[in-house]
Amino acid sequence: MNTLQFKEAIAETIRAYNAKGWSPATSTNYSFKDEHDTIWVSRSGVDKANFQASDFITVDSNGTATGEFEGIQPSAETLIHCVLYELFPATKVILHSHGIYPVLLSTVCEHEVSFEGYEIQKGFAGQSTHEARVTLPIFDNDQDMARFKEVLIQHKSSLMNAAFIMRKHGVYAWGTSLFEAKRHLETVDYLCQCEWFVLNRPTPTQY
Ligand SMILES: [Zn+2]
Repeated sequence: MNTLQFKEAIAETIRAYNAKGWSPATSTNYSFKDEHDTIWVSRSGVDKANFQASDFITVDSNGTATGEFEGIQPSAETLIHCVLYELFPATKVILHSHGIYPVLLSTVCEHEVSFEGYEIQKGFAGQSTHEARVTLPIFDNDQDMARFKEVLIQHKSSLMNAAFIMRKHGVYAWGTSLFEAKRHLETVDYLCQCEWFVLNRPTPTQY
């Protein structure tokens, strides 16, 4: 897949996720690494319903726009993408969602959320059975990206399922391909949805 094809494929994913309600009010951000290991990230303020391949810009490892894109504002959370590529060099694509179920769960779970017994846990790379416990960390939301970068570095060992939740904010998920990153993000969303409904199921007296 060349860079343009890559951009077009991710732009299509972004529009599809917008249709699911995962990126309201121009929110969320996405990135990929091309064959030269250059990071391309979605620029800020674009309505994700209309996101196009031309809405990706290149940034350096500090999240500053480079080359022909110098001066253009990348997403405010670009530094999160940069540090994830640094921590997990095999990563090719990073996706972010503001879907509501992980957000809702993060209001009742403290530092992590665990899933056990669900078939779809196998959506995480390396998980081959539902008979396991998969845990994702929940980090407090932070507008200070330099500080949040340090949190990710400190908690690298908890990021082995290629996803984390930011409290009352959303999910980051990544993969070694677009296919894998999508599978991870969709797995997280589905499992959070299940857990939210399990936590909030009516008690027998409510019938
Ligand atoms: Zn966000």
